[in-house]
Amino acid sequence: MPVTTAYWAEYAWLQRPGGTAPAVEHQVLVTVGGDGRISAVTPDSGPCPDGAVRLGGLLLPGMANAHSHAFHRALRSTVQVGSGTFWTWRDLMYQFAAALDPDRYLALATAVYAEMALAGITCVGEFHYVHHNPDGTPYADPNAMGEALIEAAARAGIRITLLDTCYLSAGFGAAPEPRQRRFSDGDADAWGARAALLKDRPHARIGAAVHSVRAVPADQLDTVARWAEERRSPLHVHLSEQTAENEACRDAHGVTPTRLLADHGVLGPRTSAVHATHLGREDIGLLGGSGTAVCMCPTTERDLADGIGPARRLASAGSRITLGSDSHAVIDPFEEARALELDERLSTHRRGHWTAAALLRAASEDGHASLGWERAGRIEPGALADFTAVAMDSVRTAGPEPRFGAETAVFAATAADVRDVVVAGRPVVRDGVHQLVPDVPAALRDSVAALRD
Ligand SMILES: [Zn+2]
Repeated sequence: MPVTTAYWAEYAWLQRPGGTAPAVEHQVLVTVGGDGRISAVTPDSGPCPDGAVRLGGLLLPGMANAHSHAFHRALRSTVQVGSGTFWTWRDLMYQFAAALDPDRYLALATAVYAEMALAGITCVGEFHYVHHNPDGTPYADPNAMGEALIEAAARAGIRITLLDTCYLSAGFGAAPEPRQRRFSDGDADAWGARAALLKDRPHARIGAAVHSVRAVPADQLDTVARWAEERRSPLHVHLSEQTAENEACRDAHGVTPTRLLADHGVLGPRTSAVHATHLGREDIGLLGGSGTAVCMCPTTERDLADGIGPARRLASAGSRITLGSDSHAVIDPFEEARALELDERLSTHRRGHWTAAALLRAASEDGHASLGWERAGRIEPGALADFTAVAMDSVRTAGPEPRFGAETAVFAATAADVRDVVVAGRPVVRDGVHQLVPDVPAALRDSVAALRD
């Protein structure tokens, strides 16, 4: 697919010179160089010139989905029957994990990433731990599953940061359960040797992850942290999603999970803590003070009854906040963004914790940075030419003045309002139609059904 060199947007959400708050601009011409980066941005450019692709509605930077487990998409609705807990949900999740192989995962992840593209997501952080055969033996290519995910992103036309995940134990000091065997490399050195075989490519970055303090013994944490440090790659970790993790960590080590990670070199500006729901004051200080980003996954945290994490306090302490759809109960970056503010309103009985601009930044620029994509998530010269155009004439978005475009997108739009998506200057979605995956619902239906057979 060739790079289209000029796009013209009816309205676009642009940074302004001098670092003031971004704003909605009119009739914006965006040109793209052969390197897939923006070469010029011209507001008030007049009507759409010949040869430029016209994008209606409001042009936003491409959205980064900073936390995904692609195969969890297969659980959608199945896990909404009855009550259950996080831990019964996890049992069902393991059943689907057991049915994956590289071919099935390629088909499923291609469909899931295509769904993400249709929702305006141009970059995904895939927290990947289903590495091996179900009995724990490696595939002929020990990274067959990771390669399937990288290929799936290419087929769906989006960027991926494959966060290759170290997962070694069932709990503090416990060997993996039989159904967790395929997640484990045995120890962190073996994990690192395998993960080192994965290579960056134009649409893909390789990063690292610690599954959690439950799944990586304390004496293995430093090895993973060092691996990421040597490569200056992103390092992600699930943190304190459930109070049970905090209690078990205190029993085993006498400290909180956050303190344990800090003591083993896991925290820092290239690290993202995912969820960070149940934190104490010291934990918030450790995360913010070290510049660790925090990825909130509000639709999943609601779905699993986790609780509401202290996003505002973390941001005030110094953490960048990013967003992820995690278990894919829904895939809608606008819903994740507004949930940050709306959940905070419910818990504090006050409004106005996050502006629409701050929420868009979490969903775009800060998400990309947490996944190792620099100069991304902004519509400005030199940035990656990744955009999302949102309809402003749908039943959800029609009516507000154009200058309230950001507020309309964040607080009223849904994934269904995404009309056009461009990645590296190439149109991936045109007028709501995926250009590479012809029938995304059928691809989802068939690839999910294959896991049930
Ligand atoms: Zn997760």
